[in-house]
Amino acid sequence: MTLDENLDSAIKRIEKARLEVDAHHIVKIVAISKYSKSEDIRELYSAGHRAFGENRVQDLNTKSQDLEDIPIEWHFVGVLQKNKINQLLKLRPSLIHSIDSLELALELDKRCERGVDALLQVNSAKEETKSGVDPLSAKEIYESIQEQCKNINLKGIMTIGAHSSDQKEIKKSFEVSRKIYESLPNASILSMGMSGDFELAIKCGSNMVRLGSTLFMRN
Ligand SMILES: *Cc1c(COP(=O)(O)O)cnc(C)c1O
Repeated sequence: MTLDENLDSAIKRIEKARLEVDAHHIVKIVAISKYSKSEDIRELYSAGHRAFGENRVQDLNTKSQDLEDIPIEWHFVGVLQKNKINQLLKLRPSLIHSIDSLELALELDKRCERGVDALLQVNSAKEETKSGVDPLSAKEIYESIQEQCKNINLKGIMTIGAHSSDQKEIKKSFEVSRKIYESLPNASILSMGMSGDFELAIKCGSNMVRLGSTLFMRN
């Protein structure tokens, strides 16, 4: 498979899933390039894709320099350490998916003067290995960030589905996120769904999927 074919096949599957929700339910793809080289990103860009995401500030820095001749829309999806905030902001990410505490938001708010779009990450599956806020306090934290962090434009919620082979468990975690998303009057982005579970995520209301392996694998 070429990356071009991978993209076509993902688009077809997304199309089918989103039409089951509603003809007007539009889903955006963010290609997660964390295990891929700059040349592969360039290849997917040539196939027409524009939004890419990385989970390490250092990798985002390197790859965005390699690719500075093309207008990529960069997303940041990884754990953000406080000592990396300045470096990340310099790279002007289009969306930070992974605000995982009010404390991090306050720190980010202090350092960004231009304003930045971001999502609150919710640990909807309540897994210790995952970051994100507890679903029970998500709405309250979301509103505190909106009140206290004038330089952060919160756009919605990001979730990683339950790490399980049981579809019901994964679905449950997506539905928890969807309920929180729907309780937030001005939220417009519900980022959930990865290579293994994006169709289910879309059926549960996701409008932004983060696809790594299914786009970048070559076999
Ligand atoms: C790696 C990663 C993805 C993509 O994972 P795949 O299973 O390869 O599609 C999506 N979201 C986050 C936060 C990631 O770290």
